Amino acid sequence: MLPVIALVGRPNVGKSTLFNRLTRSRDALVADLPGLTRDRKYGEGRLANEEQDYIVVDTGGITGDEQGIDYEMAKQSLQAVDEADVVLFIVDGRAGINPADEMIANYLRRSEKPFYLVVNKTDGLNPDIVVADFYELGFGQPFPIAASHGRGVTQLIEMVLEEL
Ligand code: GDP
Ligand code: MG
Repeated sequence: MLPVIALVGRPNVGKSTLFNRLTRSRDALVADLPGLTRDRKYGEGRLANEEQDYIVVDTGGITGDEQGIDYEMAKQSLQAVDEADVVLFIVDGRAGINPADEMIANYLRRSEKPFYLVVNKTDGLNPDIVVADFYELGFGQPFPIAASHGRGVTQLIEMVLEEL
């Protein structure tokens, strides 16, 4: 069985952009419109040098204030956590910590899945300064990436697979 990596976070943090980069496909919709990906999407990723394949799961996102379709989206995201071997909790390095991030953090703390805090959109920013804001979520060292540019992405996946 391939290891399963779930991408979780509030809408618009870059989960689908990361999914596309990892799977090199256009299977996950990427748009400025928050919440476009309603369901879980599965793709296969591969580490070029290690010949290690894995499954990556994109989710719709969690806003912390769920009703109707948002509620379904959040439910899908939490199911993805349950199915995963490891969770990448994605936050937006440009937006700072948001109440929805705190809520997701609390959920992940209670679930017994290993997870990593990933700070996206660090392109053009000093990653050390950006991640400093996110220490207060209490998850230790946040991992800076830029999904749309690829910064840090390979290192992140290598580390995650190594520690599984
Ligand atoms: P999702 O809702 O979490 O799946 O977020 P998307 O992948 O749809 O991305 C939301 C927006 O953020 C889009 O406009 C992306 O182009 C943008 N975005 C994603 N990753 C990055 C990044 O690394 N840097 C910057 N500057 N923008 C990004
Ligand atoms: Mg998406």
